[in-house]
Amino acid sequence: MRVLALNCGSSSVKSALIDTAHGQRLQEMQVENIGSDHARLHAGDQVRELGSGIDLPAAVDELLAAYRSASPEAVVHRVVHGGEGFRDPTLLTDSVLQDIEQLSHLAPLHNPPALAAIHRALAALPDVPHFAVFDTAFHSTLPAHAREYALPGDIRQRFGIRRFGFHGINHAHVAQSVAAYLKRDVSKLRIVSCHLGNGASVTAIDGGRSVDTSMGMTPLEGLVMGTRAGDVDPGVLLQLRREGHLDADELDDLLNKRSGLKGLAGTNDMREIERRAAAGDQDCELAIAMYVHRIRKYIGAYAAELGGVDAIAFTAGIGEHSSLIRRRCSERLEFMGALLDVASNDSLKLTSDQPVAAFNAADSRVHLLAVRADEELAMARATAAALGRH
Ligand code: AMP
Repeated sequence: MRVLALNCGSSSVKSALIDTAHGQRLQEMQVENIGSDHARLHAGDQVRELGSGIDLPAAVDELLAAYRSASPEAVVHRVVHGGEGFRDPTLLTDSVLQDIEQLSHLAPLHNPPALAAIHRALAALPDVPHFAVFDTAFHSTLPAHAREYALPGDIRQRFGIRRFGFHGINHAHVAQSVAAYLKRDVSKLRIVSCHLGNGASVTAIDGGRSVDTSMGMTPLEGLVMGTRAGDVDPGVLLQLRREGHLDADELDDLLNKRSGLKGLAGTNDMREIERRAAAGDQDCELAIAMYVHRIRKYIGAYAAELGGVDAIAFTAGIGEHSSLIRRRCSERLEFMGALLDVASNDSLKLTSDQPVAAFNAADSRVHLLAVRADEELAMARATAAALGRH
């Protein structure tokens, strides 16, 4: 089945037309830097400048025009926040769209662009089914002790406060990819999956089920991210509210857009941070040290929760491409049976033919792996399965 997967971020749209029977990408395109002066469309080796003034709906229109002649049989959209209700790939109807709209305040950077893209795609391809898959869905298995915050029950219930977790489409894909690579049954594996992209989260996966994850009710909790602070003492926010005179919108902007790597080093591009750190820039060195420190804390915590680990996997932009971050996260883990092989880590390169690669020493009990994120393939397969097609 030919499924068009549309994966909208806050400033980019990835897309792929996938033949789900063979797991093959028939066509793929990506628009980056949306909203800036240099929005670009990448199609294979070709790059086309879209110029300034391109917003997300216009970028989606560009992509849809290019796919129309390929006649996709279904379209699938990634939606970050599915709240309590959405746990499975869901056919998009008017009432489902309304429900997703109501969840926008929980993921203000992500749900609104996805909705804008969905409306454009429904208009451009009205005759095929459109599905949504949700980043929160994989974490619906969180046990209560990981899901709940230690707030009074009446407050939690009244305001629907709980951990949801995100990046579930890719964490689920990582678990399946690790199992396939190791030729083991996923139900027998304990995996710590580190999704290190512009957004970042760690998930503890026990037997294929998410049992804890670093993002919370919103995608703000946990790791140091591109522009998000991750874990912050809530008392800091109270103080900023009272003494810094920041209102809710200003705090939102601070935590979502001006913190994390960008707040520490002035950019959220890890390549640039690594280059500047190597040249002696102290802010960039600190940003890397804090970034790695936070990941290691979660790896240690999740190893304790899982009662041991069989594999630690690194995925997404930084996890797949930065040998420096993988190395620094994996050093001094010998106590838990994870032995790094520096040379394999340095030479590691993932491709569509080799989407998983190991960088542990031969005598390591724990597998250290890099896994290519492929949300579009996972989305397309989930859609085909929901339609009873493979
Ligand atoms: P993603 O959100 O998965 O596209 O990941 C974006 C992040 O990956 C950005 O911080 C990029 O700087 C980072 N990244 C991409 N390629 C590399 C690389 N070769 N080395 C270090 N970081 C990279």
